[in-house]
Amino acid sequence: MNAADAPTVDTHCPYCALQCGMGLRPTGAPEGPGVRVVERTAFPVNRGALCGKGRTAPELLAPGARLASPLVRDAATGELVPATWDAALDRVADGLRRTGAEHGRDAVGVFGGGGLTNEKAYALGKFARVALGTSQIDYNGRFCMSSAAAAHGKAFGLDRGLPFPLADVARTGCVILVGSNLAETMPPALRYLTELKENGGRLIVVDPRRTRTAEQADLHLAPRPGTDLALALGLLHLVVAEGRTDEEFIAARTGGWEEARAAAMAHWPEMVERITGIAVPQLREAVRLFCDAESSMVLTARGPEQQAKGTDTVGAWINLCLATGRAGRKLSGYGCLTGQGNGQGGREHGQKADQLPGYRKLDDPVARRHVAEVWDVDPDTLPGPGRSAYELLDALGGDIRALLLMGSNPVVSAPRAAHVEERIRSLDFLAVADVVLSETAALADVVLPVAQWAEETGTTTNLEGRVLLRRRALDPPPGVRTDLEVLSGLAARLDREKGFPTDPEEVFDELRRASAGGPADYSGITYERIAAEDGVFWPCPETDAAGRPGVHPGTPRLFLDRFATPDGRARFVPVAHRPAAEEPDEAFPVVLTTGRVLAQYQSGAQTRRVAELNAAEPGPFVQLHPRLAERLGIADGEPVAVVSRRGRAVAPARVTGTIRPDTVFMPFHWPGPGRANTLTNPALDPTSRMPEFKVCAVRVERVEQV
Ligand code: SF4
Repeated sequence: MNAADAPTVDTHCPYCALQCGMGLRPTGAPEGPGVRVVERTAFPVNRGALCGKGRTAPELLAPGARLASPLVRDAATGELVPATWDAALDRVADGLRRTGAEHGRDAVGVFGGGGLTNEKAYALGKFARVALGTSQIDYNGRFCMSSAAAAHGKAFGLDRGLPFPLADVARTGCVILVGSNLAETMPPALRYLTELKENGGRLIVVDPRRTRTAEQADLHLAPRPGTDLALALGLLHLVVAEGRTDEEFIAARTGGWEEARAAAMAHWPEMVERITGIAVPQLREAVRLFCDAESSMVLTARGPEQQAKGTDTVGAWINLCLATGRAGRKLSGYGCLTGQGNGQGGREHGQKADQLPGYRKLDDPVARRHVAEVWDVDPDTLPGPGRSAYELLDALGGDIRALLLMGSNPVVSAPRAAHVEERIRSLDFLAVADVVLSETAALADVVLPVAQWAEETGTTTNLEGRVLLRRRALDPPPGVRTDLEVLSGLAARLDREKGFPTDPEEVFDELRRASAGGPADYSGITYERIAAEDGVFWPCPETDAAGRPGVHPGTPRLFLDRFATPDGRARFVPVAHRPAAEEPDEAFPVVLTTGRVLAQYQSGAQTRRVAELNAAEPGPFVQLHPRLAERLGIADGEPVAVVSRRGRAVAPARVTGTIRPDTVFMPFHWPGPGRANTLTNPALDPTSRMPEFKVCAVRVERVEQV
């Protein structure tokens, strides 16, 4: 069959949580990536639309653009040199085993990623707890959505990013979008906001910058970074003061209102204006738009979540929804826009420090027994909860002496990144599985080159809780193995010959059994069903309400009849404003906030290697207001230093009136002198253990050259 006759393989983009549907067609060319992207309009979430990242994703499949052979560090030269797979896996197994034997099992750490498929996340969690016997596993999703997940759990008893399909956003009456720049992070999703407005709905965007998304808003609120909690409390205060609560809903479907009400009433609008910088008339206008609509939603993303009070901040926005009866009803509710490709599924199947598959809790004896039975191990041998992501990274070279890292690049993406890099360098042993030589992989003792999205089958769960199937369209190159093959090969060397299959469908079938009866129940979802239905929403138990096997329809909309708490009622959580962990002062008078740009993804390890994306956004920059620039004598394009208590980053200035004069912004996709995360504050949320990426105090200085 020539390339023109070859069938199109339906799959999904390897990058963000929208998981856009796309088709892959063989090119037939011996050089290059081997496939090209074609439109797949039938997939309902993106209907064929892709951003530049998705469109160019095949470029990294080409030989030369990626790792093609295992690398091991040569003891004599200190250089990474090619090795056979057997030699590389032997060395990893030896490094992990020896560390465990000398320092105890918890001296071995495992760090995963929110981009790993469900099968890989599941296998990695099992590998850590069964093959290594360590409690020290967490993943970079902790840095992504953990505050929203914690708040969701507290209020609703269950965490699913969006408890409704994205299509509902276009049909509701009003959306408050808090700390999300959809237009750049997941452009095809912007159409839901456009359709919302075409349908007569209203859009309120909360962001300290007038982003491309904020430009679409009917009302743009630009609070000081770190004050979203006070903003939500101020809006709730006005809702109560103006008699716009839904008392019937509160009485019938919630608990804890009086305490939450009292907390909100302590936050007077004038006080909220002082804290946030948003004038009282704007607060009143937001309440009017939100409450006048028959249905409304609040959607949050990293802005309010990546704070040391992220859980309470999201809780305050949920309280606003509950008090106005905008939850557990069609076309209303609170949702979190998850960021990474499998940000949702990645947190459900056991790579999180405190969780077992199916979103079960690791310290729940019933959950431990269930999963141990599926894994065919004694539940008493399963370790307990371990450290959260930053705490784990901070312990490297101390209590944790060896690390296996899969699908993450913390040298660029972790907070206080210079310190994290120094911790990683101090390890006795580091193994990294990745598709490219990322900044973290470059520090490893062993680098394992793994297959990419188009070369292996597996499932992801998008931001709506829709479980999707990525299909293999190409064979991986000869020097490359899949992550599942890596884990299987290591497990065998660690005397676990059984229990780590390499076939993704076999792993998924085990995951289904492990998740059965849990909060994230996948037991009724099969590869066949996903393929036939183009995605299935969890929870989807094995049997439907009538006890018939294999026909449960899945659950696109959660909480319509009851919330997932023991009594079926949602919980208000009383919360109060508190300052950021680090407020501006004389030495560091400006606030730094960080984020993403259209052409780059996460740490940039992949997208920085794609020519078109790199040309569009080749390096870091510092966005600052003309008034601040003038005061400091900085012209547009000149190099500028941003200094925090943790370090210094240098990048060209972008002077723009679209940012608050008291705030500077840096994207975090680059290593080197412009690494934004050199500056960020690892102060942690007490519940979610989310670092405070979005707010820290800095000073800005003119420099002569970058
Ligand atoms: Fe890929 Fe996200 Fe872009 Fe869609 S929006 S093409 S999923 S990066």
